[in-house]
Amino acid sequence: DSADFDEEVASVCPFCGVGCQVSLKVKDGKVKYVEGLNGPANEGRLCVKGRFGFDYIHHPHRLTKPLIRRDDAPAKGLNVDPGDLLTHFREASWDEALDAAAKGLQDISGQGVAGFGSAKCTNEEAYLFQKLIRQGFGHNNVDHCTRLCHASSVFALVENVGSGAVTATFNEIENADVAIVIGCNPLENHPVAATYFKQFTQRGGKLIVMDPRAHGLSRFATHTLQFKPGADVAMLNAIMATIVEEGLYDQQYIDAYTENWEAEKTHLANFKPEDMAEHCGIDADTLRAVARDFAGAKAGMIFWGMGVSQHIHGTDNSRCLISLALMCGQVGRPGTGLHPLRGQNNVQGASDAGLIPMFLPDYQDVTDPEVRSHFADMWGDAIAAEKGLTVTEILDAVHAGRIKGMYILGENPAMSDPDVDHARAALAKLDHLVVQDIFLTETANYADVVLPAAAFYEKAGTVTNTNRQVQIARAAVPAPGEAREDWRITTDLANRLGLQWDYTHPSQVFAEMKLGMPSLNNITWDRLEAEGAVTYPCPAPDHPGEAVVFGDGFPRPEGRAKFTPAAIIAPDEAVDDDFPMVMTTGRQLEHWHTGSMTRRASVLDAVEPEANCSLHPRTLRKLGLSPGQDIRLISRRGEITIMARADRAIAEGMVFVPFAFVEAAANILTNPALDPFGKIPEFKFAAVRVEPA
Ligand code: SF4
Repeated sequence: DSADFDEEVASVCPFCGVGCQVSLKVKDGKVKYVEGLNGPANEGRLCVKGRFGFDYIHHPHRLTKPLIRRDDAPAKGLNVDPGDLLTHFREASWDEALDAAAKGLQDISGQGVAGFGSAKCTNEEAYLFQKLIRQGFGHNNVDHCTRLCHASSVFALVENVGSGAVTATFNEIENADVAIVIGCNPLENHPVAATYFKQFTQRGGKLIVMDPRAHGLSRFATHTLQFKPGADVAMLNAIMATIVEEGLYDQQYIDAYTENWEAEKTHLANFKPEDMAEHCGIDADTLRAVARDFAGAKAGMIFWGMGVSQHIHGTDNSRCLISLALMCGQVGRPGTGLHPLRGQNNVQGASDAGLIPMFLPDYQDVTDPEVRSHFADMWGDAIAAEKGLTVTEILDAVHAGRIKGMYILGENPAMSDPDVDHARAALAKLDHLVVQDIFLTETANYADVVLPAAAFYEKAGTVTNTNRQVQIARAAVPAPGEAREDWRITTDLANRLGLQWDYTHPSQVFAEMKLGMPSLNNITWDRLEAEGAVTYPCPAPDHPGEAVVFGDGFPRPEGRAKFTPAAIIAPDEAVDDDFPMVMTTGRQLEHWHTGSMTRRASVLDAVEPEANCSLHPRTLRKLGLSPGQDIRLISRRGEITIMARADRAIAEGMVFVPFAFVEAAANILTNPALDPFGKIPEFKFAAVRVEPA
């Protein structure tokens, strides 16, 4: 009822990559409740996080003043009580804090400084952050959490289809008759997208779920392939081998739009389903049936998540999915396509905006002199030719003494990085750490200067969802105390580093981005204000943008996509007598990533207040454990104590651990081994031992 609020403001949900549009109902300067708007991705729908996970912005732990570490503070560590910050920090004016932040970084200067930007910021803020590191410090050591989620998918997509974004929106499933969902749990992680997947099955669409966890979407699936952890390539190659052996591929499409088919075909001869069945844990008949279903689809789509990407063979997993779609001609038409479901609400946009060490905005290669000279002309400073370090490489470089200062905006590596004790030790070792965030995160515990930022719903800007839809977010309420928008803080810091930036509104930044980003052609701030969302690529000023791309060839040499054969690579560490179980990590419906927001959202925290992990009931019985009991999980890197739940979706011999809980941080256990191409860690496979607590 409109009497319940003073004002309603249209914005975008701050959580997952679906990018639901929301109407924020504001009363007395606070968001009171949230409803779904008719956005292109959500058509009025919201999940529990979007609907109820908003009051963290009014939480008493919000940072309201700049902070500087006290001279007499205790040694750096994960030891700051959010209710007692002033034992470690003293409040400072913005001028004093910005001067201290800039001086500390400048004293180190050059290659010794690195930056982590955020997929939780707007496109304009991501763009300014990478510009600050590149222009202000003269190198490319800037990255963000895409490195920990879909970097391997993006590598494989750029390599084989010429673009890192999805080829079709997830809503295109309305036009499909077969869909594969692999290595993701959309009911919990992309819940509104999952509603479209369920509707697709209600219309008779064949849904094929592939995952070591038989999660909730399996109830709607024609086939559920609960394959052995890490056996993706064996399973996918066996499916493709069937398509080759039974002549089910689309020769016309392959001839017209691809290259390297003969090499792929020859390679696949070694992966007969009967030979792969034991390796992947799926019988040959099922592998063959799935191959026939997908190859026989009039229109087929493939969706994937971090179960695919977070492996040392994550790039190979994605290469297989790309090859499978290409050999069946399932790209470029309505109801077809490749769609890595993006995690954070703006991880697509932050990546597009250049928050990546090897690419300038729009994935333009930083080693290409022409690209560099274009941006150098725009910015008025030369750009370093050498690719920068990635997230995990930066933390290794801190331990090696090569990186001594960091500027971290809205990321929480003290919780999110693999083998997180190693990451925490790196943060403690830095000579100067500037953290800009809305709460005193675990990472901010280690800061020398803390800059209080405005949250989503307190600022304007554009964000880009998993569908390539650029949407506009608006400020509904003022930021608390002296907190400021990230773009404003980064601009103030840049000016103290001697750059001459004069942005006074994010629309000016967006206009500058358009000069270097062809993907934004025909998309203007005014259009976004008027229309709410425009999909890129957008062929004309009055066109809503392309839901499906590559119908007439790919942005690669001769317009051809490429088959890249993938061999089986075992997970980095094996289970053995000491560590006989496999641990995998992920999110759960109510909590978002490292928990800094959702654990401070009253409804979500009330529903899921306690650190928990899940095991199959038979596994628990075999170990003599009961649901609800505290257990110890021990890996080669550390141990945690956590409450065990029984869940039949988890394969026997596995344990699933959400990574939102600092008191039982899953990443104390995870393996930092990297995929060699995407440089993404193997979060999805760690050997562990389970004991009673
Ligand atoms: Fe927000 Fe994602 Fe839920 Fe939509 S599906 S309301 S974007 S968390």
